[in-house]
Amino acid sequence: MTTIERSAPVMVTGATGYVAGLLVKKLLEEGLTVHAPVRDPNNPEKLKYLNEIASVTPGEIKYFKADLLNDGSYAEAMAGCELVFHTASPFKIDVKDPQKELVDPARLGTRNVLETANQTPSVKRVVLTSSCAAIYGDNIDLKETPNNVFTEEMWNTSSSLEHGAYSYSKTVAEKEAWKINEAQSRWDLVVINPSLVIGPGINPHGTSETFSMIRQMGDGTLKAGAPRWGFGIVDVRDLAEAHYKAGFIPEAQGRHIISGHNTDLFAMSQTLLDKYGKDYPIPRKALPKWLMWLIGPIVDKTMTRKVITRNIDVPWKGDNSKGIRELGMRYRPLAESMNDFFQQMIDNGLVKKTG
Ligand code: NAP
Repeated sequence: MTTIERSAPVMVTGATGYVAGLLVKKLLEEGLTVHAPVRDPNNPEKLKYLNEIASVTPGEIKYFKADLLNDGSYAEAMAGCELVFHTASPFKIDVKDPQKELVDPARLGTRNVLETANQTPSVKRVVLTSSCAAIYGDNIDLKETPNNVFTEEMWNTSSSLEHGAYSYSKTVAEKEAWKINEAQSRWDLVVINPSLVIGPGINPHGTSETFSMIRQMGDGTLKAGAPRWGFGIVDVRDLAEAHYKAGFIPEAQGRHIISGHNTDLFAMSQTLLDKYGKDYPIPRKALPKWLMWLIGPIVDKTMTRKVITRNIDVPWKGDNSKGIRELGMRYRPLAESMNDFFQQMIDNGLVKKTG
């Protein structure tokens, strides 16, 4: 049981990111003081969306300079905080050096932030944004699960630097967090494992991998069709609630799969047809696996034959019952998240009408 004093500041790493943006909004709406360590606190362009929210909410935001790869750099921001949200970690798929670009910031960054928690006496709880990617590597791993569903009991054992490097980075980072947590007893660790996050962010020009995945459904890239690549999906606004509850519910403990829907890329795209099908090149066919296998690696180097074999036409199923039971999670409909997200992209010129 951990009770967080609401008058103490709350620290959020990665506040400039897609997922953290809505969490910071929630904290500011609740009147909390948010300490936001960011890489470049003097870049007004990067902070503008956070500042706009702070100007109309009762809470207050204070910026600090920190980097995941600069040991000790989170100390000033964490001083006096009882609650720390560690969301910062790169989410990109197309990388040249996965060790440097993904694994190091994920694992060493987690170690950096949590070692600072060890040295900051006020800290009582850390909420870590892990991922369902730390639970499974490929959809085909579902076959190895006891009831054909991914649960919080499982760990990703099939990703590596060579195959699914992002998922590998999330797995080693979460393991590192549990190791550091278990070596002490002052602060507890609550982990959020979101599936793929969609929905409108506070920054319509987000650089998270999610944006390019959904944009491709309307910019013509997928006009020949979309693969039936199974995914769990959660709305970014629902995910902010999950983080908030993980921070403030005294009994919260352990890992939580936060995922509203078991679906796939083609089914996701079909939720856009009614409203946008006339004016935008929304996919109308599911791309067959054999075709993906032939052309996938040619058009996209991250789409290897191993990825295709193990994920396309293979359903994804996650058990979200713990989050519903213990965090009181409720999830908005998939079509609402997809349509709101797509509309935000249209409003900001990220997808354009055809013809
Ligand atoms: P994002 O928009 O790219 O945000 C990543 C954040 O991490 C940014 O604030 C970025 O700061 C920060 N960051 C990256 N490298 C850093 C470094 N070396 N030092 C300090 N900060 C650094 O991605 P996101 O989608 O919001 O992801 C946030 C978290 O959610 C990640 O832990 C990700 O694994 C997790 N997650 C995301 C999804 C999803 O579908 N989006 C699903 C499951 C889990 P800058 O602004 O300075 O670059």
